[in-house]
Amino acid sequence: MVTDLLEEAGEVAAAVKGLEGFKPPDKPKTKEMLATELSDLLYIIFVLAEHYGINLEESFLQTVNDYILRFIS
Ligand SMILES: [Mg+2]
Repeated sequence: MVTDLLEEAGEVAAAVKGLEGFKPPDKPKTKEMLATELSDLLYIIFVLAEHYGINLEESFLQTVNDYILRFIS
């Protein structure tokens, strides 16, 4: 699963690089392609969290809260 996660992260990176023109892709990248790759990555993250019995929603909300507190202090 971790290798799947890394593979999907690489596909997200390739889509962003293509959109930003850093590396001309074989096939032009679109925002829809980036959305698909981000969704693939998110899916793997959810599967990994589920595998380890992690409540990702709870953990994510805590992380967002931590960021908010960091920005306002
Ligand atoms: Mg993908």
